[in-house]
Amino acid sequence: MSAITRRNFVKGAALAPLALTSSALAQTASSERFDIVVAGAGHNSLITAAYLVKAGYRCLVLEGRPTVGGDVKSAQLTLRGFQHDTCSSAHNGIQDNPMIRDNELNLGDYGLEYIFPDPVFHMPFLDGAYITQWRDPEHTRAEFAKISKKDGDTYWRMWKESGKIEPTEKFWRRRLAMSHWDIIRDNFEDDHCRAFMLACPWSQQPAQYPMTGRLAYSAFSQQRHSRPLPRGGSGKLTEALARFIEAHHGVILTNKPVQRLIIENGKCAGVECTDGSSYRAEKAVLSTIHIKQLVDMAPREMWGQDFVDGVETWQAECQMFVSNYATKEPPKYPVSGGTLSPVHSELLASPERALRFAYDYACRAVNVEDPPQHIICCSVADPTRAPAGMHTIKCVAYQPYDLKEGPEHWDKIKDQVADANLKYLRRFSPNLTDDKILARIVESPLDLERMNPHNWHGSCHAGSSAPSQSGAMRPMPGWSEYRMPINGLYQTGACTAPGGSVTGIPGRNAAAVMLKDFGTSIEEVLQKRT
Ligand SMILES: Cc1cc2nc3c(=O)[nH]c(=O)nc-3n(C[C@H](O)[C@H](O)[C@H](O)COP(=O)(O)OP(=O)(O)OC[C@H]3O[C@@H](n4cnc5c(N)ncnc54)[C@H](O)[C@@H]3O)c2cc1C
Repeated sequence: MSAITRRNFVKGAALAPLALTSSALAQTASSERFDIVVAGAGHNSLITAAYLVKAGYRCLVLEGRPTVGGDVKSAQLTLRGFQHDTCSSAHNGIQDNPMIRDNELNLGDYGLEYIFPDPVFHMPFLDGAYITQWRDPEHTRAEFAKISKKDGDTYWRMWKESGKIEPTEKFWRRRLAMSHWDIIRDNFEDDHCRAFMLACPWSQQPAQYPMTGRLAYSAFSQQRHSRPLPRGGSGKLTEALARFIEAHHGVILTNKPVQRLIIENGKCAGVECTDGSSYRAEKAVLSTIHIKQLVDMAPREMWGQDFVDGVETWQAECQMFVSNYATKEPPKYPVSGGTLSPVHSELLASPERALRFAYDYACRAVNVEDPPQHIICCSVADPTRAPAGMHTIKCVAYQPYDLKEGPEHWDKIKDQVADANLKYLRRFSPNLTDDKILARIVESPLDLERMNPHNWHGSCHAGSSAPSQSGAMRPMPGWSEYRMPINGLYQTGACTAPGGSVTGIPGRNAAAVMLKDFGTSIEEVLQKRT
């Protein structure tokens, strides 16, 4: 049974279940007048909509899938009671966003609460060595120092430096232009420490690519914030945003894929959905539809040649391959005096194995030899994710979408690839035997695109973050300010600067631009505390 989207939301009252589409409601919404129509309900577009409704604008959000959230969603993918994150789990990037940092929207009132796991990250090696990142940076330094005193001191020096990154300074201009690998190889002497610094966290940009130097410092962002998890699942962020929007008289409809932009007198005046319904916007349309698809939703000549060129040259990124497990135990890694079961761990045999990734990707080949993997067991820190004593485990590996045999080949081989990944994990965590595994769901790079069309070609950040698609070039030169070439149309989400991940920055930036164009600002809106 479908439920009605709109309802009165009372702050502090028990949280009502999230809305689903009702055809009666959809018809009402179709005949209603909205200031802004939002196409797609990822966390970024929901953030933009949240600031807009707070400013008093009437917003309608149309999501193509049955639930809102895009890649920030949780669901019982395997068995009843096991709440898996369908994509993202770690919300570190968003901790520096003023929305969370300064509590601008009071999302705690709408059900959002963060857990900050400690230890933060663990990397076991087959020779018995291991490095654990703890919330206390001195403790992490000691972990490196037990392998190499010099590398412990280097970790400490770079941790201090990381608080002062200033891209215009000569020191940083050189470092940020170097490759991730150049910096790690030159600063750390031991291969365990180098492997840790290459994969903590793993980046979709290969470590030897130029201009990836900033990634050499990304371990310190999680040293600062941990890898925060919303209690109850990643989707609690987007659920809280949806509730905020509805509490401020916004309307959210699901199962509403947008297929066309309505253009009137050269202006974007609304959208049309695949079911034939159409919705009009008095002031603006905000899209988080992938630019590769958006460009086909209005006549080509409306975009201008430079925009079309930018879309045509847009590149995918190196993709992920995900296996979700419902288990009776978490991973248990041997450590001195017993075992350790962290939320986040990474398997990477050696720095060379990380460098090999770029080659396999370029050759469009699957490689399951010592497969690097990021293992995430949220239920260790958040028992609400699984029935008592049980666990959810997500194994994120890295494989190309566009295989030589074509992306459809994934449907034939994904179970074998998942088996190989599990076999490798068992070499580090031998407790995860068959009897401990209750169920599994595998998401190949092709499945990730099927789940969310914004994951274009399996790109979890909508596309590569190479220099050609970063900063003022995202999505393309001339159009990085969230305003699109068609009057009245704005764009947010991972296709826009600064790109993907759960940062919410494209969402808040788009709100700032739209509110400016409407004659106000985020600061002014927040001053009027309602
Ligand atoms: C497996 C995986 C693991 C990840 N892990 C992490 C992590 O731990 N930490 C982290 O920071 N990041 C992670 N990421 C990346 C991060 O989740 C995404 O980059 C980010 O969530 C993108 O958010 P968004 O708001 O840009 O859009 P999305 O979340 O992609 O949302 C876009 C929405 O628009 C909808 N839509 C698209 N087209 C239409 C249309 N035509 N009509 C209507 N609706 C439409 C989609 O259905 C979707 O709901 C991960 C991603 C994946 C796939």
